[in-house]
Amino acid sequence: MDDRFELLFQPVKIGPVTAPNRFYQVPHCTGMGYALPRTLATMRGVKAEGGWGVVNTEYCSIHATSDDMPYAFASLWDDVDVANMAYMTELVHAHGSLAGVELWHGGARTANLHSRMPPVSFDSMPVAEAPWQSRRLDLQDIRDVRRWHRAAALRAKKAGFDIVYAYAAHRYLIGQSLDPDVNNQDDEYGIASQRSKLLVEILQDMKEAIGEKCAVALRIDVGAEASRRQRNELLASISHLVDLFDITVPDYQREMGVSRFVKEGSLEGDVAHIRALTGKPVVSVGRFTSPETMLSQVKRGVLDLVGAARPSIADPFLPAKIREGRIEDIRECIGCNICYAHNSLNVPIRCTQNPTMGEEWRRGWHPERFADSDDAGPVLIVGAGPAGLEAALTLGRRGVEVYLAEATRHLGGRINMESRLPGLAEWARVRDWRVGQLAKLSNVQVFRESLMDRASVAELGVEHVMIATGSRWRTDGKGRTFPGGVPSYANPITMSVEAAAELGVGALKIVIFDDDHYYIGSALAERMARSGHKVVLVTAQGRVAQWSTYTTEQSLVHKQLLSLGVEILTNSFVTGVGVREVEVDSVFSSARRALACDLFVPVTSREPNDRLWHDLSDAGLQSLCRVGDCSAPGIIAQAVYDGHRHGRQFGRPGDTGPARERVAL
Ligand code: ADP
Ligand code: SF4
Repeated sequence: MDDRFELLFQPVKIGPVTAPNRFYQVPHCTGMGYALPRTLATMRGVKAEGGWGVVNTEYCSIHATSDDMPYAFASLWDDVDVANMAYMTELVHAHGSLAGVELWHGGARTANLHSRMPPVSFDSMPVAEAPWQSRRLDLQDIRDVRRWHRAAALRAKKAGFDIVYAYAAHRYLIGQSLDPDVNNQDDEYGIASQRSKLLVEILQDMKEAIGEKCAVALRIDVGAEASRRQRNELLASISHLVDLFDITVPDYQREMGVSRFVKEGSLEGDVAHIRALTGKPVVSVGRFTSPETMLSQVKRGVLDLVGAARPSIADPFLPAKIREGRIEDIRECIGCNICYAHNSLNVPIRCTQNPTMGEEWRRGWHPERFADSDDAGPVLIVGAGPAGLEAALTLGRRGVEVYLAEATRHLGGRINMESRLPGLAEWARVRDWRVGQLAKLSNVQVFRESLMDRASVAELGVEHVMIATGSRWRTDGKGRTFPGGVPSYANPITMSVEAAAELGVGALKIVIFDDDHYYIGSALAERMARSGHKVVLVTAQGRVAQWSTYTTEQSLVHKQLLSLGVEILTNSFVTGVGVREVEVDSVFSSARRALACDLFVPVTSREPNDRLWHDLSDAGLQSLCRVGDCSAPGIIAQAVYDGHRHGRQFGRPGDTGPARERVAL
């Protein structure tokens, strides 16, 4: 135990229960929900094992009128849900941690695509992402909402939960009841002085039904400056009904902002006054990965409990590592929001930094434990990007002798270029953490400035080779819009992404064609605009960086580019490159026009660097495989995952994929 951080390991009393320490995994989405109870419970159990004193569920629906399909949500609608949830509380309790559940009713923010019941709210409002509206609650409906909430709280207690939430944040039903724009009917719940009536009644119901055994937590947002006084009055007035305040802000883009735009501990200014105001324990988030920041917030009385979703995803063993004084072993979140993106894509959660996240049950992967390999190697890994580094680390931890050969002086591969793009500095953690961990393994030897070819591989005399040589951005236009490429892209003004990322200051007219739709196109545009160039970003999609809608950053990207004077052309593509101009066409009409251009950068697709793999295919090796971008170019999370998978799979029979949790008739 490192004495410096002792404060973080003090127990905290939360109403009738006591958290064993201050590490608090706040409710977070998983893309698993009620459909995958084993997958979910095993993942939550690993967090408890890693030292999180409190482990919560994701949003947990109380009734069929709150159905968020196609997004995965937990539920406590009936006794089957109770039994499934009890499995999670059992795995969490096994490590001495408390289990919490976030009871949730979405109101007009759910479309009820699965249940087909009318969404309900305090007004008849358009529901989320669908062309239909909610039904206005009448007084009987409100009595029903209370009844559902109370019944779900009792089921939560039956399932073994220690902390049960009322969820009044993020503009869900209770949040809608507090919102004067939504709840303004002339009735006992809608008039200004009574708008908190439903929240108060729900808290009273919960206290009465489960308060002796379970702590009642309230997740609530503290809004804009204008409404702060009223919110403060409300929080002070209900503090006797609440054992724990989980404080957040209404804006997801801030609350769980990507590191490109939002830095660690950014909610402090919103949260700092709540403890004194309420006299109750307070938890909040801030993508806390630094123990010093955590300690500082607790010492200064900002927080009682250090809330974390992403830091607990990137490193489920973060608390244990602090306790053991292994600070350098913490695998810090990089703030990319790939975890959240995959919830929006309705698949089990994954993480760029932690390839075992979501795979605890599906593949039986534990973030800190690795089965020894029967085959001691040696294995040669060619290429030290995210895939090669992760494969080397995983094999090294399995006791295999590893040679990691990298052509350049620098380890990290694509991370070296990408983490220098504006706002992406924290992404370097993907490289730095792995390089640091590899240095601790005496069975892994790293060779820099070692460009490998068939002859040098033969010289080494190894029998197992993993090729992790990455990929390079194509310049021929081949991609989604033009699967066959565009011949006129072969032009002196065309420049590759890699070269463009190194471009210095100047005043060139630059056109970027983004057919990739994630961060590279917009980050390049930002970098060039900041270097003085006049940039036009052409995208074939309806929104700039459209895929980053999933990571919650799309509108921030658009705003940033506008503020830097980048011209954005949506639903358009570059059909040809000429003498100091490019030809741009519209997706919807043939309104071709020429844009003056000194430099053209196509961001369309990547070519795998798999030549060495081909060259070695008949070399008579015992095993040879392609890993990461060299196999199938993708996002960094995929390269890390593939490196990990190959590391785990080495010496084992063919990979049949993860187990599927499903109903068997
Ligand atoms: P990934 O994302 O799959 O890890 P990267 O492109 O990030 O791929 O990394 C690939 C790494 O492989 C780069 O650092 C590159 O310098 C290195 N590399 C490519 N070809 C060779 C080679 N023939 N010998 C050694 N290293 C190579
Ligand atoms: Fe952090 Fe990215 Fe992992 Fe999410 S996916 S926890 S943001 S590193």
